Amino acid sequence: MTIPAIDKALDFEYCGDIQASFDQKMAGLEVQINALYELMPFGAYSIASDGTCVSINNQALLWIGCSRESILGNKRPAEKAAAANWRKLMHHANQLRRGGLEEIELDLIDANDQVRPIGLHAKHLEVPGISTETGEIDRFVFFDLTEVKRAKELQRISAIAFKSQMGICIADNHGLVLETNKAFGRITGYSSEELRGKSAAPMLSLEENGPLAAVIWSALTSKGLWEGEIRERRKNGQIFTGWLSISSISDKDDGASHFVICLYDITANKATQDEISQLAYFDSLTQLPNRRKLNRRLSEILSDSPSDDLHGALLFIDLDNFKSINDTRGHASGDLLLIEVGRRLRNAVRGSDIVARVGGDEFVVLLSALVADPVEATHQATVVGKEILARLAKPYKLDGFIFNCSASIGISLFSHADLEADVLQQADMAMYQAKRTGRNSLCIFDPAMKEAVSAYSNLEQELAQATQRNELELFFQPQCDFDGRIVSAEVLLRWRHPTRGLIGPKDFITLAEESGLILPIGLWVLREACKHIKAWDADASMKNIQIAINVSAGQFKQPGFVDEVIHVIVESGINPARIKFELTESMMHSIDETRVKMEKIRELGVRFSLDDFGTGYSSLSSLIQLPLEQLKIDQSFVSNMLSRPGDQIVVKTIIGMAHSLGLEVIAEGLETESQKDFLHLHGCSLYQGYLFSPALPADEFFAFVQMRDH
Ligand code: C2E
Ligand code: MG
Ligand code: MG
Repeated sequence: MTIPAIDKALDFEYCGDIQASFDQKMAGLEVQINALYELMPFGAYSIASDGTCVSINNQALLWIGCSRESILGNKRPAEKAAAANWRKLMHHANQLRRGGLEEIELDLIDANDQVRPIGLHAKHLEVPGISTETGEIDRFVFFDLTEVKRAKELQRISAIAFKSQMGICIADNHGLVLETNKAFGRITGYSSEELRGKSAAPMLSLEENGPLAAVIWSALTSKGLWEGEIRERRKNGQIFTGWLSISSISDKDDGASHFVICLYDITANKATQDEISQLAYFDSLTQLPNRRKLNRRLSEILSDSPSDDLHGALLFIDLDNFKSINDTRGHASGDLLLIEVGRRLRNAVRGSDIVARVGGDEFVVLLSALVADPVEATHQATVVGKEILARLAKPYKLDGFIFNCSASIGISLFSHADLEADVLQQADMAMYQAKRTGRNSLCIFDPAMKEAVSAYSNLEQELAQATQRNELELFFQPQCDFDGRIVSAEVLLRWRHPTRGLIGPKDFITLAEESGLILPIGLWVLREACKHIKAWDADASMKNIQIAINVSAGQFKQPGFVDEVIHVIVESGINPARIKFELTESMMHSIDETRVKMEKIRELGVRFSLDDFGTGYSSLSSLIQLPLEQLKIDQSFVSNMLSRPGDQIVVKTIIGMAHSLGLEVIAEGLETESQKDFLHLHGCSLYQGYLFSPALPADEFFAFVQMRDH
């Protein structure tokens, strides 16, 4: 029996036929596969075991960057860049073969020099029993991984973003929560589990947010995004301020598919912002609005409506003797005073009126909604101004001591037609007028003041030229003992103005101090006084008269003051002991600096007197420290001491104090014999005043001394 199959198998001819038909089929298959590969969006190639490229599809040629002719049947393409790509492919293909791994990633450089991440999928195509001339064929396919990589990167970034400090909530197109991150839980107090599947909308349901949900919804549908500030309630009931940003993620056709809700807790930022605005618009000492805030408010009021009706009044308030508390008690006490002034002002006006601190000791009260009638409105503002003056004039109990302080007020009434800068300037002008007419008073701006101010500035220019034009002149007022002997004289400055006549120092010394002209003028006075002393040296009755010269605080403070003074005195060749400088209590604040300066001048032989004593706040300890020779009782006490027991006490105390400190004491402003008798009785033996003589021009003073002496 024969087995047909075996018979057939043993038939070589038959076998040869099978082989031929198999090869044919395989070749056909190969053609089909290759045709298929040509259509596929991945690269494919096959290489024989000797490394020759057997087949390659279009996509592979494109990515590798070579032509089919240059690679097919070759071991590498002719193109240089493509050869590098091919080398990489071969290298990885060998790795794949060896390690049995099927996939590997590598970067190819495409024709535009762009890096293309490629996934190489290797397939070793083994066809048993068939061996080509070049041996076995390995077939490889590779894919462009650019998009896959980008998607992976995005996923990675999203994962990191999800871990961020910003609360993130993803909701579906119905607003139902799908996922929230940890930060969202930290901010709201709700965990992801608690929120999942629930509506995200109640987050905006707080009443304070008003119709926000509707606004958000309309923004999302029109722009796909809404962001803004919201008020939120945490799980524990606490309300916080959040910054919310909602964006919709849309499907190509079907509108929103998801919502991404980002939430940031800005409660702390808000607090910082509030603090910044507090610092920018409020005075940190009194907590009152500052100048900037006042200007804003004023310009708002003025631009409110274009009507010309009177609208309000601005009261510019300046404390009269603030400097002296600062100088004598220190800045801490000054601060306490300012706080108290702010409090009194606030209590003196309505809640709708504004009280601002606009400078060191300058305050502004802005009265709004006054009556339209100008006369009545002026009356209303005056009533408030007087009330303020009365409140501010009451004694201040600060840090254990009592302090008296008054204020000067300038009032400017304004309408909508006015400019902000004008209103303030006018009130300021009126305030200066109030100061000039005597302190603790108020003054209402009227246009004539503008002229007065410009006259003042003209005066300043004229004063600047007064020394060159020889218009300044020294007058001398005798200082006598009980018997009327002239022991010394005070130099008092006069200005012989070409058109206004003789002007007293009260009308220009402040101007000189404010403008800085006091420095050259002060030096001129000293030089001139030295000249007179020198000239009078030849006269027996004059040569022992000491000359007292006033020194302003502004002069004394100058760094070069000591050197200049010494230089002028030495240069003049006079005996420095003939000079006595009159200082005021306002110089006592920087006691160490004052002492050092005084001591240097004292070394030369010049003496010092403390002028207007009793009006300032010098402490006993500061008096002890300074090289003083004399205290000069202020004329205000002298003129009232016989009628006012309080002043009498002050005078007696000053005399007693001067004696116990070993200081000489002189009284100024003496007009009557009874004043002299009273002072003498209580131990003051030097006097200056109209009782003896007013201040006289140099030649008249000379004649006066001669007459007295004989
Ligand atoms: P002071 O130093 O307190 O001068 C005394 C003032 O009282 C002088 O006014 C004088 O004329 C005035 N007086 C003198 N006796 C009487 C009197 O019996 N009754 C009244 N009612 N007044 C009397 P004056 O000359 O107008 O000077 C005013 C102030 O100007 C001075 O006050 C002084 O502080 C300042 N001053 C004057 N000359 C100079 C100067 O050369 N340099 C500086 N820095 N200040 C000066
Ligand atoms: Mg004086
Ligand atoms: Mg005086």
